[in-house]
Amino acid sequence: MSASNLEWFERAQSVIPGGVDSPVRSFRSVGGTPYTVASGSGAYVTDVEGTTYIDYVQSYGASILGHAEPRVVQAIAHAAQLGTTFGAPTPGEVLLAEEMVQRVSGLEQVRLVSSGTEAVMSAVRLARGATGRSTIVKFDGCYHGHSDALLVAAGSGVAQMGLAGSAGVTSGAVANTRVAPYNVVPTLDSSIAAVLVEPVAANMNLVAPGEGFLSALRAECDRVGALLIFDEVITGFRLARGGAEEFFGVTPDLWCFGKVIGGGLPVGAFGGSRELLSHLAPNGPVYQAGTLSGNPLATAAGLSVLAALDTAQYNELSATVSNFATQLADAISSSGLVALTPHVGPLMGLYLSLEPVAAPKNFLEATSLCENSLYRPFFHAMLRRGVALAPGAYEILFVSLAHSTNDLERTLDVAAEAALEVVSSSVGAPT
Ligand SMILES: *Cc1c(COP(=O)(O)O)cnc(C)c1O
Repeated sequence: MSASNLEWFERAQSVIPGGVDSPVRSFRSVGGTPYTVASGSGAYVTDVEGTTYIDYVQSYGASILGHAEPRVVQAIAHAAQLGTTFGAPTPGEVLLAEEMVQRVSGLEQVRLVSSGTEAVMSAVRLARGATGRSTIVKFDGCYHGHSDALLVAAGSGVAQMGLAGSAGVTSGAVANTRVAPYNVVPTLDSSIAAVLVEPVAANMNLVAPGEGFLSALRAECDRVGALLIFDEVITGFRLARGGAEEFFGVTPDLWCFGKVIGGGLPVGAFGGSRELLSHLAPNGPVYQAGTLSGNPLATAAGLSVLAALDTAQYNELSATVSNFATQLADAISSSGLVALTPHVGPLMGLYLSLEPVAAPKNFLEATSLCENSLYRPFFHAMLRRGVALAPGAYEILFVSLAHSTNDLERTLDVAAEAALEVVSSSVGAPT
């Protein structure tokens, strides 16, 4: 393990396309040599050269307690000793499903899968199967995983790579997907099976839902008999104990989960009412399956994370992020650079600008800020000083429960210095 970041990156590039197993991890949009992580602990990651960073990537939201949290590590180790996969039901999946159903009001059943992509793909199939309708509406800049039908006008890595969708996705695969601008309620008709939405858009940097947007969407779905699907892969069990529904007071028909509920292992889930889920195989005609679905290690990890999270922890994290967001904007602004740090509960974004600007309400507005080329030098100025942000302007910051006041204060100092460096090096430089 004594090889350098550069050596690991070169070896990775030779056997893994781009050196990464998911393009959001690539440094392509920020340039430079990526750090290869050797270990993580709480708020920190340490690379193969022994450099430790305060980590705001936190596996893009899969980690909420911080890395290698002792209770989670112990739960996984215990589960591993009992066997890792059987192809038969296990208590862990029942316990995790019970815990989820107990937390989210209106959620009566869940089916566990192995990723957020699978969760959303399956929920969409179920919505089409249950309604007998074909068309899905999604919002520009919302990311719902990499399944063909949803890889159109998606945010996150897709936006970072500058791709409108993806090569290899046929026009047939997206023919029944309609794209609407975020924060505007589309007029639906009776051909619509479902409307799929990130209750807080967190893959085009952060775009908050406007006042009344989600409830108006609920009403429009009801008017035409379309299902409302909340993609809570990021917001679920992070925004609040009961997720976006509890936070906004709007109830969807179907929920998709991932990230937090896996405790750092591969898990996704989708669910809704018993009536809707009765359409799924083996009870109904909508097929969906997975060899490793409800895996015992993953359910043990997820259960140990949920056991550590109650209303008090969500309140604490929300309060921490609210203060931190304000202070981070101030710290950066002291340099003359303008920083926007929109935040919703424990979720926060970061946009940099040369002029005062309002918080983006949709993908178009988010894109104009994310593409202004200020993020790249800021990212590197932070990284050089020991703070790891995501290597792309379309991602949000993940503050975990392990980030201490000290970590956050250190981040503010570093951000002020980094912003000054960006400002002084961009003076006179063409934009
Ligand atoms: C990450 C994400 C997904 C995809 O989850 P994977 O586990 O990466 O497949 C889907 N929807 C949203 C909102 C996400 O943030």
